Amino acid sequence: MSLSKSLEGQIALVTGASRGIGKEIALSLAKEGAEVIINYSSSLESANKVLSEINSFGGKSYALQADISNENSVNELIKEVLDKHTKIDVLVNNAGITKDGLLMRMKTEDWQKVLDLNLSGVFYCTRAVSRQMLKRKKGRIINITSVVGLMGNPGQANYSAAKAGVIGLTQSAAKEFASRGITVNAVAPGFISTDMTKDLNSEKILSAIPLGRFGDPKDVAGVVKFLAADPSAAYITGQTIQVDGGMVMS
Ligand code: NAP
Repeated sequence: MSLSKSLEGQIALVTGASRGIGKEIALSLAKEGAEVIINYSSSLESANKVLSEINSFGGKSYALQADISNENSVNELIKEVLDKHTKIDVLVNNAGITKDGLLMRMKTEDWQKVLDLNLSGVFYCTRAVSRQMLKRKKGRIINITSVVGLMGNPGQANYSAAKAGVIGLTQSAAKEFASRGITVNAVAPGFISTDMTKDLNSEKILSAIPLGRFGDPKDVAGVVKFLAADPSAAYITGQTIQVDGGMVMS
């Protein structure tokens, strides 16, 4: 007897799903029965590994390259998916980069690159999927922000500004789309063990985390899966859910 899965028959697009948190989100949505589109930027080999993992448990997925910081590239990506499936039920805006440096010395290029992907990319993807979601009166949008978007971080003016922007964008989109039954939420991870955090000073960071460990990508993926699934999260919108081991409490 096969138990029905909460995302059976649904199409989910996860940006930046070749590695780290995005990969784990893709795996967890596929396990719930969604057909998952694995977006990546340059890591074709890693994206193929995610596909193999999903295949190994009988899930459905395929990979599409697109630079999420580029408006045309995003529009082409979404068009390709909509031409094939006519719908996207779940959009997870996960792709992100860091280009850290003290504000006084930060290059305009490093400011712009982070804003282009981490904030404008979320806008491009959300706008491109919104028309069909609004028409179908159905959709879940989940944006991966960061706790530094809530509290700031020295050396991350660009990243914190982009992630704070994502929270404002999430709230505005949630208000615009709510009357059509579409929910828009953000997930704010603390420090999660991925390529992005591998060079950080873990001793100093660990002392600031009440649960005493870095997060695992699975810790974030579990919350994203909850927000994507019906009916568990149907009455939650415009929220930012922290997954940070208790690091930031207000
Ligand atoms: P990661 O391991 O460095 O992976 C980044 C992913 O983004 C990769 O799949 C990469 O694709 C993709 N990517 C990079 N540039 C892209 C572009 N221009 N277009 C499309 N995809 C692009 O990062 P992560 O730690 O998993 O982070 C995932 C998200 O969580 C980010 O938004 C990040 O800001 C956020 N976050 C992470 C942490 C943390 O502690 N790790 C904490 C808070 C928030 P390629 O493999 O092709 O390069």
